[in-house]
Amino acid sequence: LKPANEALLLTHLERAIQQRRTDSSMDGNAYRVAHSDADGLPGVTVDKYGDYLVIQQHSAALEPYLDALLDALEAEYQSLGILARFDGKSRSLEGLETGVFELRGAVPEWLEVREGNVRYLVDPWRGQKTGAFLDQRENRSALKAKAYGRALDVFSYHASFGLHLATVCDDVECIDASQPALERGQENASLNGFTNLSFTAGNAFDILRERERSGIKYQTISLDPPALAKAKRDLPAAYRAYKELNLRAMKLLEPGGILGTASCSFHVSESDFYDMLRDSASDAGRTVRILERRAQSSDHPEILALPESRYLKYALLEIW
Ligand code: SAH
Repeated sequence: LKPANEALLLTHLERAIQQRRTDSSMDGNAYRVAHSDADGLPGVTVDKYGDYLVIQQHSAALEPYLDALLDALEAEYQSLGILARFDGKSRSLEGLETGVFELRGAVPEWLEVREGNVRYLVDPWRGQKTGAFLDQRENRSALKAKAYGRALDVFSYHASFGLHLATVCDDVECIDASQPALERGQENASLNGFTNLSFTAGNAFDILRERERSGIKYQTISLDPPALAKAKRDLPAAYRAYKELNLRAMKLLEPGGILGTASCSFHVSESDFYDMLRDSASDAGRTVRILERRAQSSDHPEILALPESRYLKYALLEIW
């Protein structure tokens, strides 16, 4: 997976594109086309939102090949526009130009995409990552398949889980600290004609505590916190934070309730994650049945020799 030249890089890109084209799990038009090292393109990620592409490129070694990669992408997709999200700090560490700008064609302020049977708006210019959390795509449909009743989408961003939950649950409350993300969530609800979503801005830790005090119960909870352990030294504090969130969610669920819970911190290993869930269940005094042990979507491939390519842990749980 060490590209030596342009031809090899283009071969890797072509292979990545073909893999997505033949992936039968893909139901929608927003997905990751190239996932950095795991697709043999170190430092390069390409996300596709309908007819538009958003690229991130963090490697000085690959910068000379950027034009060739863009030409190949344009030829494959006849894309209407390619946006550079070169605003992370990794590019400046490599001494590369930074910013958010159009590399090819024009990219609108908002992109509307489809995921399964919901539609949502993406903010490719200012949104988190390249505009959406595509790595949770399959987990959203897995949770939807089990969800029912009164639901919470905690750390909802623009209501990605919430929209899917709204198709099967009675009502869904989306909680996030970001007001702009929730405003887009509201627009996404309207776009789909959903009237059973509500939005609460604030700190999820405080809101879950309040809900517990109020005595309200839920049947479905989605927990998708940001990476709480950004570095190895954060692990003890992150473990406590993940545990607090999961413990509270378990307590808020009625017997038979469904919890979909994630950790996207690479530093939290799969075994740490399940240990944390076991501790949470024990403190909550609940029996937890594991329905599914999941990871990131298939368009974010995992390479055996690159443990960091399996970063997302996702458990689908039934709480008794
Ligand atoms: N579930 C989303 C992705 C969530 S990313 C999806 O599938 O698209 C994590 C989210 O947590 C971000 O939207 C961020 O704004 C929010 N966040 C971070 N810290 C928070 C806190 N303490 N309380 C509530 N939301 C928080």
